[in-house]
Amino acid sequence: MKTNARVVVVGGGMMGASLLYHLALEGCSDTLLIEKSELTSGSTWHAAGQCPSITGSYNLAKIHAYSNELYPTLEALTGQYVSWHPCGGLRLANNQHELDWLKRVYGYSKSIGFRMEIVGLDEIKRLNPFLTTDHVIAAAWTRDDGHGDPSGLCNALAKAARDLGATVIRHNRVIDIRPRRNGEWDVVTEKGSIVAEMVVNAAGCYARQVAAMVGADAPITNMQHHYVVTHPIPAFMERSEEIPVMRDSYTSGYLRQEQKSGLMGIYESAGLHEAWTPRGFPEWESSNELFPDDLDRIAPWLERAIERMPIFGEVGIRRVINGAIPHTPDGAPLLGPASGLRNFWMCCGTSFGIAQGGGCGKYLAQWMLHGDAEINMAEFDPRRFGAFADTAYVRDKVFQDYRLTFTTRRPGEEEMAGRPKKMSPLHDRLQAQGCVHTETFGWERPKWFSLDGRAEDHGYERNNVFDVVRDEVAAVHERVGVLDLTGFAKFDISGAGAEAYLDRVCANHVPRKVGGIALVHLLSTGGRIQGEMTITRLDDDKFYALSAAAAELRDQDLLTQSVSPDEALRIENVTEERGVLVVSGPRSRELLSRLTDADLGNGAFPWLRGREIRIAGQPVRALRVSYVGELGWELHPPMASLPALYDAIWEAGRKYGIANYGLYAVNTMRIEKGYKAWSTELTNELNMLEADMPRFIPFDKPDFVGKAATLDRAPRPLKIVYAEVAATDTDARGGEPVLARDRCIGVTTSGAYGHRVEKSLAFACVEPEFAVPGSRFDVLIQGERRGATVLGAPAFDPDNSRMRG
Ligand SMILES: Cc1cc2nc3c(=O)[nH]c(=O)nc-3n(C[C@H](O)[C@H](O)[C@H](O)COP(=O)(O)OP(=O)(O)OC[C@H]3O[C@@H](n4cnc5c(N)ncnc54)[C@H](O)[C@@H]3O)c2cc1C
Repeated sequence: MKTNARVVVVGGGMMGASLLYHLALEGCSDTLLIEKSELTSGSTWHAAGQCPSITGSYNLAKIHAYSNELYPTLEALTGQYVSWHPCGGLRLANNQHELDWLKRVYGYSKSIGFRMEIVGLDEIKRLNPFLTTDHVIAAAWTRDDGHGDPSGLCNALAKAARDLGATVIRHNRVIDIRPRRNGEWDVVTEKGSIVAEMVVNAAGCYARQVAAMVGADAPITNMQHHYVVTHPIPAFMERSEEIPVMRDSYTSGYLRQEQKSGLMGIYESAGLHEAWTPRGFPEWESSNELFPDDLDRIAPWLERAIERMPIFGEVGIRRVINGAIPHTPDGAPLLGPASGLRNFWMCCGTSFGIAQGGGCGKYLAQWMLHGDAEINMAEFDPRRFGAFADTAYVRDKVFQDYRLTFTTRRPGEEEMAGRPKKMSPLHDRLQAQGCVHTETFGWERPKWFSLDGRAEDHGYERNNVFDVVRDEVAAVHERVGVLDLTGFAKFDISGAGAEAYLDRVCANHVPRKVGGIALVHLLSTGGRIQGEMTITRLDDDKFYALSAAAAELRDQDLLTQSVSPDEALRIENVTEERGVLVVSGPRSRELLSRLTDADLGNGAFPWLRGREIRIAGQPVRALRVSYVGELGWELHPPMASLPALYDAIWEAGRKYGIANYGLYAVNTMRIEKGYKAWSTELTNELNMLEADMPRFIPFDKPDFVGKAATLDRAPRPLKIVYAEVAATDTDARGGEPVLARDRCIGVTTSGAYGHRVEKSLAFACVEPEFAVPGSRFDVLIQGERRGATVLGAPAFDPDNSRMRG
């Protein structure tokens, strides 16, 4: 056995095998995949093998699309039988909400490039003459998907990898993984140790146990899942063509033809079972394990499945499979670095690992070998979960996710499983005032305030919260608003070497003067955007860095792992030590001045300055910054001081008509200001020039991480633009295709209605020739083409006079 390898992959299921192949395709075959039993002997072998094109996430849809492109080619490439059935898929819509969701996904199909049509009952009947269509109003017909033999696909990927020089070792368990002083790993196996530069956890249902070997966690719960296969069906015997795979919320499952039999898989929404209860994970000896059938558990949905396909009920059940699937709390895979570790990667947590395996392997291999993937990986990064994702939280969320597998979720819908987990000390106060919270990185954060008890009528169109948000915006624009943004990630960076270090790792200059504030970006060596932070210089050798709540662990890794041994500085994560209260609006200065002796006038406290002052007797770091484009301060007190500070501000603010506001209002106001957001516009797909952020690149700075790649003059395929959209009752939200005549030239990244400017606005990533101000194109919003014009300046207050006021 090899004793050294650049990459060791632990686990030979669909995920591990695909990664091995794509590492080789990307140029690295000094790799070793170690499987404790046979390849596919975990979850993969018993999967039903379906590979849908349709999923609710734009980036995940790219992963699915790539798999569906790859799998039909594998048999010719390797000679391995994969039994690919290109029968397509039919996703049934049983009501208008489901149809609206299909229209949104139809938009994805245009920009990603998979074939999808929305079809009516006649076409559904033509594609599957055996289907009863009660409740059905339409369906998505996707032609690039199908199903394959999971074992065949996995073995083909492993063979393709071996053909390119990779090594696969079976019947050898990894029993420990130990860090070496030089950053490499000792991978200890039953047959000896291997020194590896990088290790990947592709251990499926064992991912949590393998992560524990290095002191990490993989937030997954393994669920039992059934499908049944019927006896052969006479009607199928007479046909040469195969019916598409059907997916249906009424059945909460999938239905298809399996050779000449029927196959029905059920996501039951009652009586769910974790696998291997009570401990939740398999014994190491487990291999090709199935659980006893429990048809009673799935019977109500099975009956509905037979209602849909009566011919399935005419013959008996021949085989029942009840196997284990790993699930994460949000249903997306874990792809990327493990938090706090160098060179330890996750490639696990997928509940649709056959459909996703191909794409997951491709994009993770790019990230591992080149520093960036070509698609936005933020929603797959394992560091989106932290210590808050404990066993109970993960289990609650996973049960919810499993139950909702075939339910289409409407925009903004809040699901409460596992919540609340992390709360600001203001949580109950705000809730008592009608706050509707949303969850980010475990934090409960204000989304909007229901002052009259209304509940949001969720949907794609402007809804009954539109007016509420307009009023919150008006309060901020005309008077003063207050917002609890305690979830911000916060770092104290101090020491003699702090300035030089920050100057090296951030693209923009860090503030030269004490009290200065700068917006900075952290880039990969390839120049792509990794992080965005606001840095305040509190003292000669003390800086305060703030970033998105969801980026806390990523940014902590970015910061701590960038320190060189000769740099003298300290980085402390103070996220949970300080609260954040944002006070914004033209009356904010008058209001705060009543509570402080500090001079808040423009001379003493100008825009983009930060100071430690007292407000209402509480010590705060006060930063004069605004993400909403109005005069205002962000106040960062010690966490325990937050309630007293809020109460004093609220009390003093009554005179000025103070109002609470939430993240819906923030989003519309930041788009009016043309502020791009990390993870939607500012992503690992783009460099700073492609993101149209040249203002934050100091071209004269001798060096910073990613400088050479940023300044590389190679033609840039895409650019972020800011546009006004001629929307009617539905605004862009991101993921909508951008069309020039019949050609797709890009995709929106986010959008909203701007109440102050009374315009519908969007950011989009388009071909550079459409990036010039005044360029026109269409945005396909929920199936309707809407004209859009590229703007050359922020729609609201382009010269920042309100913030400087
Ligand atoms: C009934 C059923 C139907 C399904 N149908 C579908 C479907 O139609 N479409 C779809 O996309 N998905 C489906 N799935 C889900 C799919 O099977 C999984 O998402 C996928 O197989 C996960 O692949 P994996 O590589 O992550 O895990 P696995 O296939 O479990 O591979 C992990 C491997 O790691 C090995 N391993 C673990 N620890 C060690 C160690 N310490 N040392 C060495 N080796 C180790 C294990 O032996 C195992 O082989 C279904 C699942 C079930 C149960």
